[in-house]
Amino acid sequence: MDVWAHDRWRIPLPAGHKFPIDKYRLLRERVQDSVTVHESEAVPWEWLAEVHEADLLERIRTGTMTLREIRGLGLPWSEVLVERGRRSVGGTVAAARRAVEHGIGMNLGGGTHHAGRDFARGYCLFNDVVVTLARLRSEGAVQRALVVDCDVHQGDGTAQLLRPDRDAFTLSLHGARNYPFERIPSDLDVDLPSGTGDDEYLRVLSESLDVALDAGVPDIAFFLAGADPWEGDRLGRLALTKAGLRARDELVLDRLLETGAPVVVVLAGGYAPDVVDTVDINAATVAAVAARDTARLS
Ligand SMILES: [Zn+2]
Repeated sequence: MDVWAHDRWRIPLPAGHKFPIDKYRLLRERVQDSVTVHESEAVPWEWLAEVHEADLLERIRTGTMTLREIRGLGLPWSEVLVERGRRSVGGTVAAARRAVEHGIGMNLGGGTHHAGRDFARGYCLFNDVVVTLARLRSEGAVQRALVVDCDVHQGDGTAQLLRPDRDAFTLSLHGARNYPFERIPSDLDVDLPSGTGDDEYLRVLSESLDVALDAGVPDIAFFLAGADPWEGDRLGRLALTKAGLRARDELVLDRLLETGAPVVVVLAGGYAPDVVDTVDINAATVAAVAARDTARLS
C-alpha cells in the first residue's frame, strides 16, 4: 500500500497553538513499517487556480493576506506554510491517481475542507479534494464525484465549490454546534446533536450513505476521515469512541468500494489533548485502508 506524507514541512507555531503539527510526523513514523510512504510533491499554482480565486492565491503566495484573513485561517503566514499547503494538495492528487489505478489511495494529510473559492480559513489554505477533482477531470480520468466528509466540522469550503456542480455530491456529517457557525450548504448536511455516540452516529451515517449513493454512482469518491468526532477531542462536540471511529471507517470504505469507484482517503482534523490519541485514530484508518488494498490485490 502506498501513502503520501508531507510532514517534513513543519510550520512554525506559537507555543500552545491548537493546530496538531506533530501528528503528521508521528503518524508517518507509526505506519511506515506497514505501508510505503512517499513524499508529496508541491502542486503547481496553475492547478490551484483552477479552483481558487487568483487574487486570494496571490495574497497567499506573497504573504499579503489581510489581518482578518490570517485570523480566520488560524495559522501564521510563513513560506513553509505555503509550501506545506501545496504539498498537502499534492499528496491528495497522488493518492487519487493511485486510487484510479489500484482502487484505493490515501494521503497522510489533506482534507482541508474549509478552504473555498475566495477564502482560506479554519486551518485550511487550499481545498485539496476539489483541486484534485478538477485536475483529474481535466485529464479526463473521472467526471462524477462523491465527497463523504466525516470530519466533526461542516465542510463549508467544499460545499461552496461543489454544490453548484451537477456532477458532484457532497455529504457532510458533523456536530450541529461545531464550527463553522455560518454554513454554506452541502448537497446533504447532517447536523448531529452534541454528545452523539457510536450507535446513533453509525445508524445516521449508513442512512446518509444510502441517500448519497442513490444520487448516482460516482467515478471517484473522497472520504474525509476526521479524527475529531472522538469523545475526547478539544474542538469537537460528538462522543465517538475509537472503536466507533474504526467502525465508521470500515462502513464508509466498504460502501464506497462496493460501487467500484476509486476511493481516496484524507485525514482532515483531529485535536485530542494528547496528540497520540489522534495518531491512534488516524493509524487505524490507515490500517483499514491497507487491509482493503490487500484484499483487492489477492
Ligand atoms: Zn475538523
